[in-house]
This record gives sequence, C-alpha cells and structure tokens, in this order.
Amino acid sequence: MERVRLDKWLATAGMGTRSEVKKLCKSGRVRVNGEIVKDPAAHAVVGQDVVECDGEPIPYEQFVYFMMYKPQGVLSATEDLRQPVVTELLAARDRSFGVFPVGRLDKDAEGLLLLTNDGQLAHSLLSPKRHVPKRYCVRVEGRLDERDRDAIAAGIVLEDGYVCLPGRLEIVRSSDESEAYIEIYEGKFHQVKRMFQSLGKQVTFLKRVTMGPLALDPALTPGTYRPLSEAELRPLL
Ligand code: URA
Repeated sequence: MERVRLDKWLATAGMGTRSEVKKLCKSGRVRVNGEIVKDPAAHAVVGQDVVECDGEPIPYEQFVYFMMYKPQGVLSATEDLRQPVVTELLAARDRSFGVFPVGRLDKDAEGLLLLTNDGQLAHSLLSPKRHVPKRYCVRVEGRLDERDRDAIAAGIVLEDGYVCLPGRLEIVRSSDESEAYIEIYEGKFHQVKRMFQSLGKQVTFLKRVTMGPLALDPALTPGTYRPLSEAELRPLL
C-alpha cells in the first residue's frame, strides 16, 4: 500500500508547485473520498483513495510518457538559451512533470521522440548493451544499391575508425535522391548520417519511425504529441 502526502500527490499530477498545491488544499478545493481535506500533509492511498480538485478526479501519476513527432528545427533538449527545444512544444501541464527526451534526434531530423520523467526507463532504453532497434526513413544524395545494403549489413566503419554493428537497409527508391529505411541497433552521435557519409552519400532527410517496440503514430503531425497507450507502454517497462 503506497501512502502519499496530498501536496506530493497534487504536485506530481501537475497541479502546481509544492507551495501552490498547499494553497489549493488550504482553500478547501481538494477532497479525498468526498471529504474536504485542508491539510496538505494528510495522506491518500494510491489505487484506493479518490483525490479530487474542484470536483475533477486527480489520478496519482508519478511517471508520464509522451510520444512526440519531433519537427525539424527544434533541439532534443529541455532548455537552450538561443534555440527552440522539444519540451516547449508541450502544454504547460505536461511540461510540469519534468519530462525530458529519451535520446536525441538531430536538430534537422524529425520523427519519433519519447519524452518521459522516468529516468530508469530512459536509461534502460538507451543502454548500449540492449541494442534497441531504431528504424529511420532516410533520403540521400545519389543512388543506393546492393553494395550499400551489404556494407551496412557487414558493419560500416565510420571516419573515426569505429565499426558499427551490422544494420539493415531496405531501399525504397534508387535515383539521384534515393530513399530507404535503415535499422540500426545502437545510437552513436549522428550515426545514420555518418554511416552514409562513409558510403560517400549525404543524408538530405532523416525521420525516425520506430524505437524498440514503439512506432510513430501516423496520426501525429510534426510538433504534436500524445500520451503513450497502456499497450505501447507495457513492453517498454
Ligand atoms: N542518426 C543521425 O545521424 N541523426 C539522428 O538524429 C539520429 C540518428
């Protein structure tokens, strides 16, 4: 049985800072199981007690998970003095959970980005030992052919000598600007761009479409996001 102080419960649910939610309690707007509770130090039991503010139930959510379609031109960061960051795309209430992006997409890349305040999940998804697969749609200058596919399958050697884990290339279109899907199992800095650079090809477009079992929702447009569903979250935990 998890007992949580009312001020922690409300602040964790994004209802305000600790001092703001204390005021909320003192003003008599908070009820536990239908009874007004003005003491912010009172406790409620997770999964048992019903906490409400102004008649709205407030579930106790310690961790939140959002799937975002990161647009180009925005940094995968929580703050930056000069440039826009992905957390600025969240509604104020969602930002108040203290979420951060799980891994990075380059500023000029787009696609699937997971945002959470669950450090353990982030750590496990990013762990180099887990080899979580990531799939990208990529466009490159020049023609792609089976030699590129074989080189990626064998393990590309980057310009600094690092030998990549074998990846998978599915060529969609081979022309002056070719299109393909590439799946990789690690996440080195600028990895996809550097892999194609080693093949003598410049990446012109990069979009992440999956990360482990998570796939970018086709209903999302650049800059939008939504909470993960239970079914999406379960295999990640
Ligand atoms: N590889 C890159 O080069 N850039 C990204 O943003 C992600 C993978």
